[in-house]
Amino acid sequence: MALVSCDECKAQISDQSLQCPHCGAPRKVQAPVKRSNKALNIVLAVIVTPILIIWAIWGIAIIKESSMTPEERRIASAARAEGDAPYDARNFCERMVIASLKAPGTAKLQDKTMVIQKRENGEFVIGGQVDAQNSFGAMLRNTFVCTVKRGATGQLELALPISMTN
Ligand SMILES: [Zn+2]
Repeated sequence: MALVSCDECKAQISDQSLQCPHCGAPRKVQAPVKRSNKALNIVLAVIVTPILIIWAIWGIAIIKESSMTPEERRIASAARAEGDAPYDARNFCERMVIASLKAPGTAKLQDKTMVIQKRENGEFVIGGQVDAQNSFGAMLRNTFVCTVKRGATGQLELALPISMTN
């Protein structure tokens, strides 16, 4: 038990008493406790909640990653490291394929053109399918493979002629 001074009459009273025995004023014991709880809640909301959210997102990413095959993991981490490079190479391949067709205006790309392989030398091997009219006007499905690299000045170019089969 410790002595504290009464808020009203300043007399020394027990910190255990709910009321001052001298003047009858109630001791304001609850107020500071409530304030500190409020402060604690703000700390939890401002600091702990974002940490929990980041932790949860990170946890989901780890779970997602751990359910991948080693090959998928390798591709995912390569894609993160390279940013837009695989997408740029894929778009370049599609443009070159369409330009090489007999009737480019009839071209319809099928599903998603895929980056099949990223080579150690930085080349992307890209494959997909495109429907287009041949020289007789018949719609044919072509399967293509491009090998795309960055040239000396950084522009994309074909490392090999486009392989096209139907
Ligand atoms: Zn008092």
